[in-house]
Amino acid sequence: MINVSLHGRGGQGIKTASHIIGTAAFLSGSYVQDQPLYGAERRGAPISAYVRISRQPILERGTIENPSLQVISDDSLLESAADNPLEKIRESTVVLINTSLTKSDLASKYSLKNPLIVFDLAKFDPEIISRPTLGIAVAAATCRTLEMDFDLVRQSMIKELSGIHLDKDDIAMSIDLAKRVYDMVTHGETVMEVSGIRESGIFEMKFHNPAVSTCSITATGNSMLRERGRWSGFQPIIDYERCTKCMICYVYCPDSAYTFDSKGYPVVNYDACKGCNICQTECPVKVITLVKRNKT
Ligand code: SF4
Ligand code: SF4
Repeated sequence: MINVSLHGRGGQGIKTASHIIGTAAFLSGSYVQDQPLYGAERRGAPISAYVRISRQPILERGTIENPSLQVISDDSLLESAADNPLEKIRESTVVLINTSLTKSDLASKYSLKNPLIVFDLAKFDPEIISRPTLGIAVAAATCRTLEMDFDLVRQSMIKELSGIHLDKDDIAMSIDLAKRVYDMVTHGETVMEVSGIRESGIFEMKFHNPAVSTCSITATGNSMLRERGRWSGFQPIIDYERCTKCMICYVYCPDSAYTFDSKGYPVVNYDACKGCNICQTECPVKVITLVKRNKT
């Protein structure tokens, strides 16, 4: 699995960058998660976003503590003791950073031995730093580092930028910018290939910072792999004549045992249902009954 951790500042488009990277990887045939993490939305405040890319279903959830690729869109973050993204990397983490420092200056200033890829967007276009398009440039540089084909980046950008209601001209300009940045990031220094992803098979117990208010789920022991139905003494039965398709049962089920059929009616996956009774309690029209489970 490739774990990408992106760090920037509110207003730079880092969340959009993670969506563009995630969607491009998804279009390449990978399983993907991408998610932003920020506190109160405040322009200029540090923001992180995370992308997991794998050829296998991704069972982990939550923030990425030990990234394979650390992307830093704004080197002013390195000056902050509280927010310095370099505090969150391991020795093998590749660092992709937008900075005017050279690689050797960066390595000596921050005592880094990690593989470094630097690109200087201020030199490329001084205006870009102050615009939300910074995230687009960062996404393009990241996709280049991950050896993703630019056509996937282009398709992903059309999808994601249409989703935030950019008009066609702005999308075309953004794609043009992304292509120029993509071509600028040094060829031959790219280090990861999405098409060649391999699982390491090593389980790493990560430190989860208690100050981060999201829970993380590690792959080992993941409840998706367990058949909770084996514990269950009861199972819910739905009266479809009276079901209003309100989806409340789906929302409340703690084990994601509900899916929906093509007509929008809830369907229980009894292998995943542990018979906890929550759906019966929450159903507003009381059309769910719990019956003793037949385990034969
Ligand atoms: S009984 Fe509990 S686990 Fe089973 S479907 Fe209802 S809410 Fe989900
Ligand atoms: S909560 Fe009740 S009414 Fe709503 S979809 Fe589920 S079974 Fe149907």
